[in-house]
Amino acid sequence: MKGKIRTSIVLLVVLMGMGTSLTSAQVIFQRPFGVAIDDLGWNEGRSLGDEGGGWRAGVRRDFDVRDYKPIVEVGQEAGVRFMGLFVLGEMDRLNVVSQIPTITKAGYDFDNSSNIDASQIEVMEYVKNNAAYLEFGIHGVGHEHWIDGVRKRAEWYNLEDNEPWPEADSRAHIEVFKQIMSQYGMGEEAGHSFPESFVPCAYGYYWNPDGAYSTGKLMHDNGVKYVNTDFTHIQELNPPAQATGGFDHGVLVIDRLNYGNPWYELASLPSVPIDSFRTDIIETHWPNWLAQDDFLQEEVNQQWINFFKKVQEHPEFYLAKNTEQFNSQWLYKRYTEIEEKEPGVVHIDNRNMPSVAYENDLLGNLVLSVKLKEGEHVQKAEVNGKSIPAYFEESGYGFMYLPELRRDTFTLTYQLGDNKSGIFVENTGTYNVYDVEESNKQLLIDLKVYGTQTIKLHMPNADQKREINAKNKQLLVKDVSVNKQGQVLEITLEGKDIQGSRDWLIIK
Ligand SMILES: [Zn+2]
Repeated sequence: MKGKIRTSIVLLVVLMGMGTSLTSAQVIFQRPFGVAIDDLGWNEGRSLGDEGGGWRAGVRRDFDVRDYKPIVEVGQEAGVRFMGLFVLGEMDRLNVVSQIPTITKAGYDFDNSSNIDASQIEVMEYVKNNAAYLEFGIHGVGHEHWIDGVRKRAEWYNLEDNEPWPEADSRAHIEVFKQIMSQYGMGEEAGHSFPESFVPCAYGYYWNPDGAYSTGKLMHDNGVKYVNTDFTHIQELNPPAQATGGFDHGVLVIDRLNYGNPWYELASLPSVPIDSFRTDIIETHWPNWLAQDDFLQEEVNQQWINFFKKVQEHPEFYLAKNTEQFNSQWLYKRYTEIEEKEPGVVHIDNRNMPSVAYENDLLGNLVLSVKLKEGEHVQKAEVNGKSIPAYFEESGYGFMYLPELRRDTFTLTYQLGDNKSGIFVENTGTYNVYDVEESNKQLLIDLKVYGTQTIKLHMPNADQKREINAKNKQLLVKDVSVNKQGQVLEITLEGKDIQGSRDWLIIK
């Protein structure tokens, strides 16, 4: 008995001697989780499907700015910038849609003047001002395709005859989409990029990665990087297997499914358990986020917030903060091998990452997590001896944001402890941090900001007066403050481009 106690004491001393490095925790390489919100942008929700028009949102209701707020409010609570997919035809203030007869049933006679008033400006200003929580993505202009006033499904691919629309016609639809963006100061001339995300209307996507033309080619040529759709609707084109994805002319196309929330149903969440989600991105439509009246909206918001909380608590999923992070994690999950050789030492093999991911700037942070006990934190984490740029805790997990990884092998070492140390960004927002460098008494942070957000930078002596600037003037420094303990510098930044502004922040 005595010997046993002595052994235990010796073991305890050894454990204490090893300090914080000994851990039974295992690093977790989670699947990313994201949602798409289709069919934003309609002015009226009522379906014209029976009259040969578009189905719109399938809700007899006129939309205004109040119908966009729930998405932003849930995004603020959940810490997510949701992928919104817009149909812009009814936003057209100058009847540019009438240039292309295949966009609407009315064709050349399209006249939107009765639809247009100040409320659309209010909507688009709201969308621009809330780029931190709502991504402006492209869905379509008219949603279907009309030939001499006769409707065919759908805007980007002919699902009825299983053939692509003429390339010139599809390119003309994109030009009209751009013209409507410009009517609201969202175009290139106003400093904003074309959307990075696309969802084809009615899943009509011309998958043709080996041919000269495809929907991917069309989108890639205009700046789109990420696409999601349901592959079952284009089986004739031999798309990637269900619940997977692939590259088409430089865009990453990922399969998605619906889990029980119909496109027209108000206040409707996925009805199947999170455990049974086979795809990493799931389908929602605008009405799913809306209550039938204002007094019920708070409750619907809360249901969505609870849903995302459950996703974040789920050991298999990482709730991606934005679309870039989602797709980046999706690529790492597919191509990167991770092995914890010994507790706290993780070998990362990224040599199989396809070059197309780099050529098209599709990658960002790799996110790895550990389950934390009460009061426990990741005290230190380094990739090849250099501190990771960002860290975040939520739902009992510590999320480590590794920098973008080139095609190589890496070693992540991490330690758990009772406090966090070093210089790092605590990523409570929806921005991306790629690098934190210390040199010549100044700190350089490489990051991408969507909209206006506050960066929490943990550093010793944060309370000293500092000069903060963005190297390439893509980010505007709006406010700087220090927390009460003097260890966190809070910097409020505004990104110039609603699709995200990347720059180096210089802190002297
Ligand atoms: Zn749609």
